[in-house]
Amino acid sequence: MGKVIVGAAVIGAAAVCAAAALIVRHRVRNSNPCVKSANILKELEEKCATPASKLRQIADAMTVEMHAGLASEGGSKLKMLITYVDNLPTGDEEGVFYALDLGGTNFRVLRVQLSGKSVIEYKEFAEVSIPPHLMVGTPDALFDYIAAELAKFIADESEKFHLPPGRQRELGFTFSFPVLQLSIDSGTLIRWTKGFSINDMIGKDVVAELTKAMDRQGVDMRVSALVNDTVGTLAGGKYDNKDVAIAVILGTGSNAAYVERAQAIPKWHGPHPKSGEMVINMEWGNFKSSHLPLTEYDNTLDVESLNPGEQIFEKMIAGMYLGELLRRVLYRMAEEAALFGDTVPPKLKTQFILRTPEMSAMHHDTSPDLKVVGEKLKDILGIPDTPLSTRKTVVEICNIIATRGARLAAAGILGILKKTGRESFRDGEIPNTVIAMDGGLYEHYIEYRNCLENTLNELVGENFAKHIKLILSNDGSGIGAALLAASHSQYI
Ligand code: ADP
Ligand code: MG
Repeated sequence: MGKVIVGAAVIGAAAVCAAAALIVRHRVRNSNPCVKSANILKELEEKCATPASKLRQIADAMTVEMHAGLASEGGSKLKMLITYVDNLPTGDEEGVFYALDLGGTNFRVLRVQLSGKSVIEYKEFAEVSIPPHLMVGTPDALFDYIAAELAKFIADESEKFHLPPGRQRELGFTFSFPVLQLSIDSGTLIRWTKGFSINDMIGKDVVAELTKAMDRQGVDMRVSALVNDTVGTLAGGKYDNKDVAIAVILGTGSNAAYVERAQAIPKWHGPHPKSGEMVINMEWGNFKSSHLPLTEYDNTLDVESLNPGEQIFEKMIAGMYLGELLRRVLYRMAEEAALFGDTVPPKLKTQFILRTPEMSAMHHDTSPDLKVVGEKLKDILGIPDTPLSTRKTVVEICNIIATRGARLAAAGILGILKKTGRESFRDGEIPNTVIAMDGGLYEHYIEYRNCLENTLNELVGENFAKHIKLILSNDGSGIGAALLAASHSQYI
């Protein structure tokens, strides 16, 4: 009996709160809009705050999850996938090698001629878009299309590239979807992402499917390495700079890979690698921690996404989502504080209408009247003639969201530095650590990139910062795959 009464009291209280909220929201529209939007902005800033102390907690949580994911399969939200890459390219690789990079709406094919002295003598590539119907068709249709493009690419080969007589062409396959790797040159698809949905592929060996298609299309080529883009970037980076030990992708999505000691991977039961090391694909986008500064905007974005509850870290830091977070904040300001006048601009209701490149363009607007911001609001959202104060508010929101994302990405990197023990060296013993970065977000969103680098320096301290370098490894993933085909060549 008592319980029922308590329950009723709670429901009653909730109803009163909801009614109060309605009244507040209604009233607000009639109160001073500037004050109200300033309040929403202040609240956003507070909720998104990432002081160094919080970032350290997040880095520690990342380290804990890394340990758990390495201890046992399914031990953590971090998959910590074993890549079977235990020897990264050394620079001694020689000859012509190919790569195929598939992981979005375009795929790239490329070939490199390697000198054997850490030099890529020649490089050629072609980029081909995937017709949308093939993203949701059959495996044969997709792989036949790709194999046919490979055949054309080989037919176009210039004389600079030398395949020694009697040798088969070798390919590194960058396949950036979740794969359960079975060996360096085989792995089964766990699930499609990024708009792909092809029946009869889950659980199948992607290399076997590509190989069958190459046979059908008359392409005589062997897949010598199957990797994802982080692993390719790590290999490509390492070829240029021996101190590369970590790769981070910040593009549409986000992920990281790094070199781990074999003894630190309890779940690995295979033969001990000669190098004593193994590359781990973290799949860090799926990281989650109670320390993450999540807001109402993050929560609704997640609930309404195609993969609710998954990829929470990615949804706070990666290019697919930053613009959408901005839209959600603007929507609330339009609704509750009449930021854009009496009515909410209809286009502001469309999910993903504000893309991160547009957000970046507004954030970087240095003109005195924020001309770019005005144009974007007009062109994308159909809001003409915004006052300067409104444009300033938009830039501030961009700054809060991008800053939080960049600082969290830096905390993730600190987590890897801690896990690999690099953060605990004493002066004089600190190893140089180079981090290979790739992805359109890192490459083009300068404020984000600068903030990430400054934050990492702030977190590791002055002494260690001198030994850390982030390099843009543009297209590293494709070249890296070709290099891995070389270092795992059937002729070695
Ligand atoms: P993918 O991650 O799909 O393999 P990219 O590495 O090229 O491809 O990254 C593309 C992503 O980078 C876009 O989805 C976008 O979020 C982000 N991006 C591209 N250009 C910019 C830009 N100018 N400013 C900010 N973000 C950008
Ligand atoms: Mg990519």
